[in-house]
Amino acid sequence: MTGALSRERLAVEALADGLTELRSVQSAELARLMAIGFEACAIPVALFAPDDTIAFANDAYRTLMNVPPEARTFADVVRHAYQTGRGMVLSMEPEAWLAMATSRRRVREVRSFEVDFLDGSWYKVTESCVDGGWIWNFYTDITSLKSKEQTLLVARDTALRSADTDPLTGLYNRRYGVSELDHQIGVAERRGIGLAVVLIDLDHFKAINDTRGHLAGDDVLAHFADEVARLVRRGDTIARYGGEEFLLIMPGAGESEALALAERIRQTVAATASAKLGHSYSFSAGIAGRVARDDVRSLLRRADGALYAAKAAGRDCARVASLPSA
Ligand code: GH3
Ligand code: MG
Ligand code: MG
Repeated sequence: MTGALSRERLAVEALADGLTELRSVQSAELARLMAIGFEACAIPVALFAPDDTIAFANDAYRTLMNVPPEARTFADVVRHAYQTGRGMVLSMEPEAWLAMATSRRRVREVRSFEVDFLDGSWYKVTESCVDGGWIWNFYTDITSLKSKEQTLLVARDTALRSADTDPLTGLYNRRYGVSELDHQIGVAERRGIGLAVVLIDLDHFKAINDTRGHLAGDDVLAHFADEVARLVRRGDTIARYGGEEFLLIMPGAGESEALALAERIRQTVAATASAKLGHSYSFSAGIAGRVARDDVRSLLRRADGALYAAKAAGRDCARVASLPSA
């Protein structure tokens, strides 16, 4: 009886051993087949050990990442890419980049991010963390998606810019000028700083068109725009307000600074017009400084009144608006 039992136990143990062996043979075979499959597949794939040594990297990965034969770790790959100028684009020098990348690796079970390469290609990387620190990296080529995205972004920026721009002079258009003025009135109010506007109207412009032709008139507008754009400070805005009218917005400035700028523009136009256009021209300007409770309409109405006064005074001059009556 005892003998039969122990024989039975031996048989069960032998069966269990056999199964374990079979399973390990199967898993070794499975691992071999998977390695062959990954090696043959075109998707870059790599497996990193918990200490970041490269446990496996297929041919596609080695080519994409420019992995040198002697590379042992992920850091070796990164440094080699930096030295040879082929592989990933690093946004900073390699040691700092590695410190940043290492701080992100293994923080989550699955992570995905986009990487660009020095040859212009883009990949989406999926990083799966398994078994306490092993990392699988799978790379998906998203270059064509990225280039479409880039084209759309450029098209959007161009459309946005042209919606704000006057095509003849390259200056901002009236719509943008007015919305910028509205914005700057708010800024001046909140910060308690000055704000001056200058409305400029070219003198006898119709006569220039009539005697020299419409194209010569266009040249005058472009000349004026170029000269003013060169003179205004960063933060100032110059917009084409209408046909031969311009709006200059000067955040932080008072009426005397606006008057001084108008005078500089007058001198520059007088000094350059004849040489560039073959004739001179002049302009009149109306200046208004912001006061409490001003909005776009009230501020521009005062500047327009001052411009009218400059025209009435004989043109080729600037006038400052008087303060609104309380
Ligand atoms: P003032 O000194 O009183 O301002 O006289 P002005 O002749 O400048 O004013 P007016 O308003 O009588 O004429 C403005 C002219 O500007 C009329 C219009 O044909 C011309 N104009 C408007 N836009 C353009 C443009 O884009 N190109 C050209 N060449 N002329 C334009
Ligand atoms: Mg006009
Ligand atoms: Mg005019």
